[in-house]
Amino acid sequence: MSSTITPIEVGDQGNVVYLVVAQRAVFIDSGHDVDGEVDLLIREWIKAGRPEITEIILTHRHHDHVGGAEKLADATGGLIVCAPLEKCSIEEAIRGASVDRVVKDGELLDLGGVTLEYVHAPGHTMGSLCVFHHDERVLFTGDTILGGSPTTVIPGQGDMSDYLDTLRKLLTFDLSMVAPGHGPIIVDPRRNIETLIEHRLKRETQIFELVCEGFVSIDGLMLKIYPRLDTNLRRNGKMQIEAHLLKLESDGKVEVNEDGRYTPK
Ligand SMILES: [Zn+2]
Repeated sequence: MSSTITPIEVGDQGNVVYLVVAQRAVFIDSGHDVDGEVDLLIREWIKAGRPEITEIILTHRHHDHVGGAEKLADATGGLIVCAPLEKCSIEEAIRGASVDRVVKDGELLDLGGVTLEYVHAPGHTMGSLCVFHHDERVLFTGDTILGGSPTTVIPGQGDMSDYLDTLRKLLTFDLSMVAPGHGPIIVDPRRNIETLIEHRLKRETQIFELVCEGFVSIDGLMLKIYPRLDTNLRRNGKMQIEAHLLKLESDGKVEVNEDGRYTPK
């Protein structure tokens, strides 16, 4: 049995929603809560011959991935699914709608000769979910891996240690390509994931060394590491420094006092 994978680009943040069609079909993510975007997804579904949509799989809670879920579910009859840890946040994000089913790590979904596997992928958010297409060996990653830029590990929503563990876990899959939630398809997944791990570990070492040299505050580290970032990127940069410091703290390498000053331990 063959399947088709249709990437559908929506919105102005380069979001990519995927329609995977075999005997039955799924959407992976749902774009924003914007009628025009959902209409575009529905048009692609109609163009594909209105296959039975079993599930609308939400990779994580952010509005650009879940906003259209309810309208898409109403139009296609698909069930809204996500990882257990993300359920509450998603239900908050798509006010009034409910998640129909939560999926286990390693759980399989048979689309009629084509098998998808749910892969829990904590890091960007704690309930992030990837989907592995066994037959094509494609991994759909939401924001866990982006095409063209590193993702953000969001303090309070995600965790840097878990993110690194997730990347190491994804290396154990025999992947032909990564289909991210933003940006282009990644055709050399192994090298890409290894580079992401290296990049994070280098940044962690750099931050630890700077703390040892006396850079005690997040703002001070920010100016040293990202002196030229524009305002939007500064927000992300700051979150990354904080996420690394939280990891260094939980690894017992640094400590933080009541004024938010970091020192080596
Ligand atoms: Zn996100």
